[in-house]
Amino acid sequence: MKLISRINQFPPLTDEERMVVDNVRKLCQDKLAPRAAKYDQTQEFPWENIKDINELGLNGIFIPEAYGGAGLSYAAYLSCVKEMAKACAATGLIWATNFHASKPIVDNGTDEQKARLLPIVLKGGIVAACITEPGAGSNATGMKTRLTPDGDDVIIDGSKIFITNGDVADLMLVYGKWSELGDGKNAMTAIMMEKNTPGMTVIRKEDKMGMRASSTCALAFEGCRVPRANLLCAPGEGLKMLLDLLNKSRPSVAAHALGIAECAFEDAVAYVNERKQGGRNVIDYQGVQFMLADMATDLAMCNAWLWYVTNLIEREGWNIGVEASMAKMRASDLAMRITTDAVQLHGGYGYCKDYRVERLMRDAKVTQIYEGTNQIHRQEIGRSFIAR
Ligand SMILES: Cc1cc2nc3c(=O)[nH]c(=O)nc-3n(C[C@H](O)[C@H](O)[C@H](O)COP(=O)(O)OP(=O)(O)OC[C@H]3O[C@@H](n4cnc5c(N)ncnc54)[C@H](O)[C@@H]3O)c2cc1C
Repeated sequence: MKLISRINQFPPLTDEERMVVDNVRKLCQDKLAPRAAKYDQTQEFPWENIKDINELGLNGIFIPEAYGGAGLSYAAYLSCVKEMAKACAATGLIWATNFHASKPIVDNGTDEQKARLLPIVLKGGIVAACITEPGAGSNATGMKTRLTPDGDDVIIDGSKIFITNGDVADLMLVYGKWSELGDGKNAMTAIMMEKNTPGMTVIRKEDKMGMRASSTCALAFEGCRVPRANLLCAPGEGLKMLLDLLNKSRPSVAAHALGIAECAFEDAVAYVNERKQGGRNVIDYQGVQFMLADMATDLAMCNAWLWYVTNLIEREGWNIGVEASMAKMRASDLAMRITTDAVQLHGGYGYCKDYRVERLMRDAKVTQIYEGTNQIHRQEIGRSFIAR
C-alpha cells in the first residue's frame, strides 16, 4: 500500500537504522504476527517472541555503545515499537516497557550503575516500571510505597498494581517515598531492584481485555532489602525523573497505537476490496470510501506529528511534555477509532475471532488508559494555555 510505505519513510533514520528496522519488520512479519492469535487466546507470556527479539539483540537499540549497545536514535526505537505493535501488540508492550524502565539507568545512573545494571538488559533481560498503586493511578504523586534507609541498604514496603512484566522482570524500577522526607511529592525517589529480592510477591496476574500475552501484575513489597547503591536519584528527586520518563514513554505509546491502527487499516482495505455485496465490491460504495478516506488521512497526520515530535526531541531535548501528550492522546484515540471502524467494515465477521481486527480493537483500548489516561492528557494540554 503506497500510503503506508510512504508513511514509513517519515522517520528521520540513518541507512544503518533503516536496515535494523527492516530486519525487525521481517522478524515481526515472519514470526511474531503468525503467533499473535495463539498468545492472545492462551494469555501465555510470549517467551518464543522474546527469544527471537533477543537473538536480534534488540534491547541493545536503546543502550549506549559505551555499554555494549547499538545506541540507535529514539526515532529508530519508535519505528521498531511500531513494527512490533503491528505484528503482536502485547510483545510490543513488553519490549517498550524494557525501554521505559531501563532508560532512567541510561539517563540518570552513575557509571558504576550503568556498568553493573545495563549488561542485564543488554543480554535480553526484562524490565518493569513500578509506579501505579491501588490508591495512586492518575495521581501518581499520591503513592504510599516507603523507601526507608537502613545502613548501606534501602528497605522497600508497599504495593503496586497493573505492573507490566511484573512477574517476569529481571530488573524493576520502583518508585516510592523516602521515609525521612515525609509523604509529599518532594519525597518521591526511584530505585532499581533485582530479580529474586526476598519480600517481593506477585499477588495476582490480571485477566485482560487485550494485550493478553503481556503480563500485568499486582505486586507486594514487604521489607525488600536493596543496596543503597541502586538509588537512581538523590532522595526526594524522583518526581522530576518520573516526568522525564513520561516524556519519553508517551511518544512510544503513540508509536505503539499507530502500529495497531495501521494494521487494522490494512486489514480493512484488503477486506472491502474482496467482499462483495449487491453485485459490487464493498469498496465501490461511497459510504465505505468516505470511511477509508478519514482513516487514512488521520493516520497520515498522526504519524507526521509523531515524527515532528521526534525531530523536536533531537533538536531541543526532552522538554516536550505538551507535544508528547498530544501525540499519545491523538494516536491512541485514533487507534481506537480505526480499529472500531475496521471491525465495522468487516461486518459480522469483524465481530468474530477468525479476523484479526477483533483482537486489534481490544488491544487498542488500553492505549487510551495507560501512561496517563487521555482525560489527564487533555487536562495537561489545556492547562498549558493558562496565562498566569
Ligand atoms: C494493561 C496495563 C498496563 C499497565 N502497565 C503499567 C506499568 O507497567 N507500570 C505502572 O506503574 N502502571 C501501569 N499501568 C497503570 C496505568 O498507568 C493506570 O491504569 C493509569 O494511569 C490510570 O490509573 P487508574 O487505573 O488508577 O485510574 P484512575 O486514576 O482511578 O482513573 C479512573 C477514571 O477517572 C479519570 N480521572 C482520574 N483523575 C482525573 C482527573 N484529574 N481529571 C479527569 N479525569 C480523571 C480517569 O481518566 C479514568 O477515566 C498499566 C495499566 C494497564 C491497564
